[in-house]
Amino acid sequence: MTLFEKIIAGDIPADFVHKDDHVVAFRDIKPVAPTHILIVPRKPIPTLNDIGDEDAPLLGHMFLVARDLAKKEGIAEGGYRAIFNCNSHGGQEVYHIHLHLVGGQKLGNTGWK
Ligand code: AMP
Repeated sequence: MTLFEKIIAGDIPADFVHKDDHVVAFRDIKPVAPTHILIVPRKPIPTLNDIGDEDAPLLGHMFLVARDLAKKEGIAEGGYRAIFNCNSHGGQEVYHIHLHLVGGQKLGNTGWK
C-alpha cells in the first residue's frame, strides 16, 4: 500500500482540502510555497508512465480540481504551477500519481521542490 493509499484510507492523517468520488486533495507536509496542495486519485497509478487511455477523464478531473482549488486558495490570478513528477529524474518520491498545486508567491526557475 502506498503512503497516499494510507492517507486516503484514513490510516495516516492529512489536512484535506477536497474529497470526491475520484480524487482527494490535501496540503503537502513540506510545503515549498504558501499554497502547496497534492491532488491524488483514489485509483493507485504508480507513475505517469502507467496511465491508460481509460484514465483520460480522471486526469482531466484532476486539473479541474486544481483549477477550483487555485481559485479557492486565492492564487488563480497571481498564478501557480501544476506539476506531476515522474520517476527518479523527475524527483518522484511517492509512487502513486499526484498533481502538485503550488503557488502564493513568485516561483523561481528551479528549487520549487
Ligand atoms: P513527489 O516527490 O512528486 O512524489 O511528491 C511527494 C510529496 O509528498 C512531497 O512533496 C512530500 O513532501 C509529500 N508528502 C510526503 N509525506 C506526506 C504526508 N504524510 N502528508 C502530506 N504530504 C506528504
